[in-house]
Order: sequence, then C-alpha cells, then structure tokens
Amino acid sequence: MLDFYSLPKSPDRFMDWSWHEFEPFYQNLNERPLNEGNIAAWLADWTSLIDMVSEIQARLTVEVTRDTNDKEAERRYNDFLDRIFQKSHTANHRLKTRLISSGLEPQGFIIPLRKMKVEAGIFQEANLPLLSEERKLASRYNKITGSQTVTWDDKQLTLQQLRLVLHTPERATRERAWRLAAERTLEDRADINNLWVEFMALRFRLARNAGCQDYRHYRWSQMTRLDYSPQDCIEFQNAVEEIAVPAATRVYRNCAERLGVTTLRPWDLDADLFPVPLSPPTAYGTTHELQIKVRNTFSKLDAEFGEYFSIMSHEGCLDLDNNVGKAPGAYCTSFPITRMPYIFMNAVGLSEDVRTLLHESGHAFHNFKRFDLPYAQQRIPGLEFAEVASMSTELLSSPFITTANGGFYSPPDADKFLKTHLERILTFWPYMAVVDAFQHWAYTHHEEASSPDNCDSKWHQLWKRYIPGVDWSGLKHSAETGWHRKPHIFRYPFYYIEYGLAQLGAVQVWRNAQEDPERSLNQFKGALCLGGTASLPDLYKTAGAKFAFDSQTLEDAVRFIENEIKKLAQ
Ligand SMILES: [Zn+2]
Repeated sequence: MLDFYSLPKSPDRFMDWSWHEFEPFYQNLNERPLNEGNIAAWLADWTSLIDMVSEIQARLTVEVTRDTNDKEAERRYNDFLDRIFQKSHTANHRLKTRLISSGLEPQGFIIPLRKMKVEAGIFQEANLPLLSEERKLASRYNKITGSQTVTWDDKQLTLQQLRLVLHTPERATRERAWRLAAERTLEDRADINNLWVEFMALRFRLARNAGCQDYRHYRWSQMTRLDYSPQDCIEFQNAVEEIAVPAATRVYRNCAERLGVTTLRPWDLDADLFPVPLSPPTAYGTTHELQIKVRNTFSKLDAEFGEYFSIMSHEGCLDLDNNVGKAPGAYCTSFPITRMPYIFMNAVGLSEDVRTLLHESGHAFHNFKRFDLPYAQQRIPGLEFAEVASMSTELLSSPFITTANGGFYSPPDADKFLKTHLERILTFWPYMAVVDAFQHWAYTHHEEASSPDNCDSKWHQLWKRYIPGVDWSGLKHSAETGWHRKPHIFRYPFYYIEYGLAQLGAVQVWRNAQEDPERSLNQFKGALCLGGTASLPDLYKTAGAKFAFDSQTLEDAVRFIENEIKKLAQ
C-alpha cells in the first residue's frame, strides 16, 4: 500500500527524483476509485505530487536564471524538462480527465474545473517535447540578452547597470550611453531573429497538433483565458488609442518641458518609454538597505504584509543583486512544499528598483494567501488578477515610503516618486497596446510574421501609431527591433495585456483606498485569499474593481490619475 504521507517534505530529498519514483504515486491516483467520500483525500494526494514537481521546477528555474552561464544548472534544468516535466504533464492530464469524467464537483472547484476542461481540450502527447523545446529556446533568449554588456568608463556594465547612466542630467552623456546600448543589442540582431523563426515554427506546430486554427487560439486555451476573447483585447487596444495615447502624449510634453528640450528623444526616457524618475535616481546604497526600507514601508501599510516580507528576508528568499550572467528582469516564484515565495531581481541602486521590489512583493503576498487553499488547482488566479495583486501593492504602499516611516524619501521626494509612477502608468498603456497588437498580428499571420523583416515593419508601424510623442528619427534599426527587447514576446507569448488590464484594476483599488483605506485594503486582501476559485470579473469585484476593456472605465482611471498628478505638482 502506497503511503502519500511518506512523500519527502524537504526539497533536498526529492530534487533529484527520477520519474520512476513519482510514477507509482500517479499510478495509485489513477487507479483509486473516485467518489464523493474520497475525493477530498484524492485531491490532497494529487496536490502533494503537483507541489513537488512545481517545487523542483521553481528551484531549477531560479538556478538557471541566477547564473545563465552555469552549465551544470542548465543541464539539470534541461534534464528535468526531458525526464519529469513531460511525464508529469501527461500524468496530470490523465487525472484531470478522470476528475472531469467522474462528474464530481468538489467544493471550490467550479472555476478550476472550467479551466481543466479547456486544458484537457488542447492536450496532445505530441506537443510535450515541443513544450520542453520551447522552454529551452526561452533559455537561449535569456542567455543572449543576459550576456549583453558594454564598457563604460573602463568598466564592464550590464545593460541594466547602464540604465543608471541614462538617468544623468547631461543629455550628451545619456545619448552616448543610449547609443552604446543600442549598438550592443543590435549585435545580437541576427541571433534573436533566428531564434524567433524557431519559436514561430514551433508554436505553429503546437497549434496544429492541438487542432487549433492558429497559435492565438491555442495559446488562449493554454493560458485558460476563459473570461475574455481576442475581440475584447482589440477593444482594449482601441480604448488605449482613444484615451491613453493622448494622455501619454501630454506626459511626454511635460517631460520635454522639464528637460528644456523641444523634442523628446529615446535617451531622454527610461527604457525608451518612461519619463526619467523625478525622485532622486538612486534610492539606497546596498540591497540590504533596500530590504530594510521596503520592510518598514510594508509594516506601515499592513502588519501582516510586513511580517510576510520579514519571513522571506530571514529565509533567504530575496535574490536582489544584479550580476553579470544573471538573467535580466525580475520575477516572483514560489516553492509550494516549503510554502515560500522567492523574489528574483536585478537591483542596481535605482529608485525603479524600489518599485520593482514593491511589485514582486505584491505577488509574494498573494502567494502566501493563496497557498492557504487546500488544493493546487484552486491556487491559480490567472495573471490578469495576479498583476492586480502586485500593482495594487505598489500603489497602496506609496504613502509609506517616506523616511518618517523608515522608508526611502523625504515627503517632496515621495511625491515625486509617486508622480513618476503615475506618469509611468499613463505611458505604459500605449506600449502594452503595441506589444499586444504585435502578437495578435504575428500569431494570426504565421507566414508573414515568420519573417523577422516583416516583424520589424509591423512593430515600427504600431510604435508610431501608439507612441507618437517621442522622436526616433535617424534610429530606424533600433526603433524597428524594439520587439527584440521585450522578453515576454519570446518567453511568454501573449502575456502582456494582463499588465494593462491589471493596471486598470489596481488604479481602481487605489482610488477606493483614497476614500476608505481600511475597507479597500480588506477588500483587496479578501480577493487575494480567493486564489483561483473565482472568475476574473468576481476576483476584481471582490477587490472593489471592475474587470474592463471599455474606453469609459479607462477614461475614468486616466482622469483620476491626471488629477492626482496635478495635485502632486502643486
Ligand atoms: Zn508582476
């Protein structure tokens, strides 16, 4: 008799498990009779297995992203994809099918069951090696971009570190740094183009194997986007064009005025997009200081959030420093067995790092809350709401980042920090629309979009349509390869509109907090606890917001933000 209680509880003891060790447990679940009386135990046992595999995957992902040149980590990760990932996918699929055909509807499973049905509908054994392959291609993309460095003042800097220079007041210096980074990224143009061609071919096969008309259709099911359609996304892109593009153009105009320039060039912006922070560009010395001040900020916002952050800090789950070879960007993952979230980022001293850490911590708090739900399938809220957790946390923290609260800024600098944030929200929506529209085009025009040259033209055309406020003349190569610099397009296709939708949700949560902070925080936390047991409209509603694509909701949010910016300017 197999005893699920005997499953190891410490990752050290199962990190190297082979499929052979998992198999009998999956087999047992597959053969055990399933009825009202034992469904709870069956789901709990299944959860133990899902958690173990997720924990292995999360830990290996951390290893390969911590050092993209670590050959041993790469081998272990690829080995996991080949040995465990595919087989567990198949085994989970079998159990899903069993649960669906049993007709049982365990409590708190309406939404998880809906998602399982969609996932089961596209499952194809033939796709499993392709899905592993896709992850390996994504690692190649990380490797290329993670190795991009430049020499600046005799020092080797990652492009993230160079961003500090891009915040200096001397325009000529900024331009020199920007051009240096642009040249460096263009050196990898051919490699990234080749990778794209491989991604396109692979994604086309995934869709065809699953019987989908195109990859968009496939990905919709794979991401279990049940509460909205491609048409809704297009409605949102149009709303952005109508409402957010003019607002962003106003932000750019103000930014040009502040800088005393007539036209705004990409080196006048952060990440080619955002007005350079008004608050002091550097906000802390060491990452230890960053941790302490963020913890203080959270403790003032909410005692429980402060406690969560302290736990992560003590458990060594904050990986903050930027190093050569570390994959770019930031993420929050979690280790389900140890029930610990893990934050990965590349902090270099910027004010923006503060915002990143607040953001990723929001994901971490969400993880703490949703891991209280008993079954793995109930804990997946969908990225559309996961980003509400992180983005609301950024906004809700804003009153508590002052030095008086143990945070980073004097009151005037805290105002500037918030103003920068609000300006970023307004300039982000148009960019999001470019990334989303680009992918809708690419994955419904397979032949055309398999040519990187066509992608260049499409990107450039969308860029001019949605971001007319910045002058890119004479910079054609960099302008048209902007899609190379958006990791999501390569690593997480279609995962981007989520940020735009969630931002709209988060602004609503924050607007409520202006009226009644306590009530709003409670609503927000209530929604975090729901994990993935409610639909997106219900999750948003519980948090006090509307899940929306229409121009009216967007207009209300944009007006509110512009009004707040005006107040801060006084
Ligand atoms: Zn996020």
